Amino acid sequence: MTSFHDFGLVEPITRALAEEKYVAPTPIQTQTIPAVLSRRDVIGIAQTGTGKTAAFALPILHHLVTNRRRPEHKTCRTLVLSPTRELSSQIVDSFRAYGRHVRISSALVIGGVSMGAQVRALQNGVDVLVATPGRLLDLVTSNALRLGQVEFLVLDEADRMLDMGFIHDIRKIVAKLPAQRQTLMFSATMPRAITELADQMLRNPAKVAVTPVASTVDSVEQRIFLVDRADKPAMLAEILQGESIDRALVFTRTKHGADKVVRGLIKAGITAHAIHGNKSQNQRERVLAAFRNGHVRTLVATDIAARGIDVVGISHVVNFDLPNVPETYVHRIGRTARAGAAGVAISLCDSEEAAYLRDIEKLIRMSVPATDRRSSPRQAQPSTMQHRLTRPPADAARNQRQRGRGNAPRKQGRPQQPRKAPSGINAVPFLHRNAQLGHNTQSRRREHGNPKNSVQ
Ligand code: AMP
Repeated sequence: MTSFHDFGLVEPITRALAEEKYVAPTPIQTQTIPAVLSRRDVIGIAQTGTGKTAAFALPILHHLVTNRRRPEHKTCRTLVLSPTRELSSQIVDSFRAYGRHVRISSALVIGGVSMGAQVRALQNGVDVLVATPGRLLDLVTSNALRLGQVEFLVLDEADRMLDMGFIHDIRKIVAKLPAQRQTLMFSATMPRAITELADQMLRNPAKVAVTPVASTVDSVEQRIFLVDRADKPAMLAEILQGESIDRALVFTRTKHGADKVVRGLIKAGITAHAIHGNKSQNQRERVLAAFRNGHVRTLVATDIAARGIDVVGISHVVNFDLPNVPETYVHRIGRTARAGAAGVAISLCDSEEAAYLRDIEKLIRMSVPATDRRSSPRQAQPSTMQHRLTRPPADAARNQRQRGRGNAPRKQGRPQQPRKAPSGINAVPFLHRNAQLGHNTQSRRREHGNPKNSVQ
């Protein structure tokens, strides 16, 4: 399949894809879409960044549109379960983007926000409901939602849902669904628990997999410099002068930060331009053209601005700021090492960003080699902080429930929420990061695809 038209999706959907500038389906889409269109259950091994959301969203939208019927009150036709609020809202956004030309109702049900608006959103029934398991069960228990009309069930990031202790919630939810339904399950890894779950919940599923085991993350040479915040501009200049760079894309968290970084680089004698939402379209195009043809070797961008940058030959990605959403890191570094080319991703991490680094390493399931350039690196850690950091958040949530708080409002798992890093230079024992992850990072390496856009 080289084009979305080959799948036979209804025209309003392919039109939306053209507007999204999706030219060709990704491998997971090529495998999954025909299977779902032919009404088969699917089990897929795929990670964030491979295009798996569209792989399930597009054929489901197609079915909803071609078999249109009004959802009954307090029911949904499609239920998508995902482990985190962040991922859930990305999924519902995707459904809305791909379904913008078809009248499909959707709702998002996640913890941490008031239930009132969610109860109202479900009142008339919806075509698509994206939810985290805990809040979904709360709504079912309080009779705001009935699950007996679900036609399509998607379990996204199943391994993470298991890691986060959602297995019982998932079983309770699935027990309330009609047996006659189409089920799609996606997971980055396939441990036994997932295979067992799939055996119980799926019927003769088509097995699809993308094998980017050694793709983006592995083919990018990743490095970290642990630095004091104040030293970041000088460190960046040193990196850009020291490395043999074809094109470098520097990421900052804010537009203001991007401008400041550019000023610092210019002062250090390095030509650089910023690209972000405050720049006019003209300015953006001029800068991008200069970056493409090599007149400007360094571009400083925010995540949102970087979405529109389609430039091949980026040899270096530098994270001036670490992103607070770990998936964003994977998307950022995926901008380099395209099409088998070698790429380098260098991140500057100050003490305030230590927790972000830890979340990133947990997501990519490897530790990134770090060089400590802080003025006074400290190794001893307060024992309370050590304790907090040694226990993975999922275990923490599980333990909390085992201590008899099963009915308390459920935690959706900390690591995926934008969060505040602990402050203090010695908040994280950088030199013992592997031990903190609590697993063999080599053997549990997780793979990632080559995302086109970044999220944030
Ligand atoms: P996902 O793995 O679903 O999180 O998707 C990763 C990113 O790839 C998202 O930003 C999507 O918008 C983008 N994407 C998905 N499918 C395609 C496609 N066929 N062409 C271009 N970009 C895509």
